[in-house]
Amino acid sequence: MNVNDVLADLSRRFPNEPEYLQAVSEVLKSIEDVYNEYPEFERYNLVERLCIPDRIFTFRVTWTDDSGRIRTNMAYRVQHNNAIGPYKGGIRFHASVNLSILKFLAFEQTFKNSLTTLAMGGAKGGSDFSPRGKSDMEVMRFCQAYIQELWRHIGPETDVPAGDIGVGGREVGYMFGMYKKMAREHSGTFTGKGLEFGGSLVRPEATGYGNVYFLLNMLATRGIELKGKRVAISGSGNVATYTADKLLSLGAKVVTMSDSDGVIHVPDGLTREQLDYIFTLKQIYRGRIREFAEEYGCEYVEGGRPWSFPCDIAMPSATQNEIDGDDARALLANGCIAVSEGANMPSTPEAVDEFIKARILYAPGKAANAGGVSVSGLEMAQNSQKLSWTAKEVDDYLHRIMNDIHSQCVKYGSEADGYVNYVKGANIAGFMKVARAMMSQGIL
Ligand code: NDP
Repeated sequence: MNVNDVLADLSRRFPNEPEYLQAVSEVLKSIEDVYNEYPEFERYNLVERLCIPDRIFTFRVTWTDDSGRIRTNMAYRVQHNNAIGPYKGGIRFHASVNLSILKFLAFEQTFKNSLTTLAMGGAKGGSDFSPRGKSDMEVMRFCQAYIQELWRHIGPETDVPAGDIGVGGREVGYMFGMYKKMAREHSGTFTGKGLEFGGSLVRPEATGYGNVYFLLNMLATRGIELKGKRVAISGSGNVATYTADKLLSLGAKVVTMSDSDGVIHVPDGLTREQLDYIFTLKQIYRGRIREFAEEYGCEYVEGGRPWSFPCDIAMPSATQNEIDGDDARALLANGCIAVSEGANMPSTPEAVDEFIKARILYAPGKAANAGGVSVSGLEMAQNSQKLSWTAKEVDDYLHRIMNDIHSQCVKYGSEADGYVNYVKGANIAGFMKVARAMMSQGIL
């Protein structure tokens, strides 16, 4: 494989998909050497079959708003690769959703799921529907309409969706309800379900907690303690709040949180009471982070991002490409020693280069945020067994998986000078398993 040739070909075929091309480029560049050690991969044209999704469903969703107006949105499900297990990946509802973003997410998901050690392929879905400002009933009607179209293509052994940006427990519940009605089965087709109908304990917490467990592993390689460290977090949704929750319980200081309107800065770190306030504000009342600043009188920067504030550790947990080259340089100038990604692809390629050049601890999302899908995998296992595990059982399992992902990154990503390149490690480890599975299954 010549990466430049492959990328040129994909750019020609998919010219309007920058996020997809960005994700593919990052992975291919780091696996090129390993790939070329196996001539049979090239003979089987593994690279193209790995980069191009198995199939994509694209459809219109029609729903009625509270005023009786008929509304339409575009919706998708990208089934990327099922070599190692049923398709698995979240659903995103956000005005920015398009095919490029979902293809990048499904591609990344394939390697992430491979890293978890569980049997899950990669997929992603979503719509440009924005739940922001919509009533409960509007969200429900949209979710139902989305599933009325998609239900034929998903199932417990086929494709198992979950949440992502704009899709939490409420949305998964509505989608599961309609799936159950259409398919006439009560099965583990969704993860992130309510506890009363097959959900797993620790699933809401899993991505944030898992990211902190991964961070602890990274810090341990340099003998650094988490306690007392200042951590800048972006976002204030599911991943961000549970990351903050675990950090607080381990004695770290959370100095920033944000939403798509702005960022709050609390130099001494959020108290437990303040974090509870944010959780209620964002998850229950669906308010704005600005309201926290008004309540507690802290600094708030409209339209700002966390990366210019002094911190020891950054944990981006909002969205893709939210740390650019300038942000990365600002973080490094302020003494940041570690970046552990809760979001998917939050750092631009230029930012990643800066982190690696500076030899700081840098964990890409596909390793650091894999805890969410891991516990989704455990939810699938519990649904198959028709059993519920205790919170401790699930959390211990999550801990083991994150430690294992870290070990895989160290195994494949250690460089001659001892530096662990987690990007390379995660990409090679994730790729090798999918590649071997695809080779064994013939040309499909
Ligand atoms: P939520 O919808 O719960 O929260 C998203 C947060 O990010 C909100 O605070 C939102 O602000 C903010 N945000 C979203 N889009 C933008 C944007 N374009 N610019 C600035 N801020 C933005 O989503 P999650 O917490 O579930 O997901 C966050 C990230 O983590 C995503 O990248 C997702 O793919 C990734 N992830 C999630 C997993 C999960 O288990 N949920 C698993 C692995 C990765 P606002 O309130 O204004 O919308």
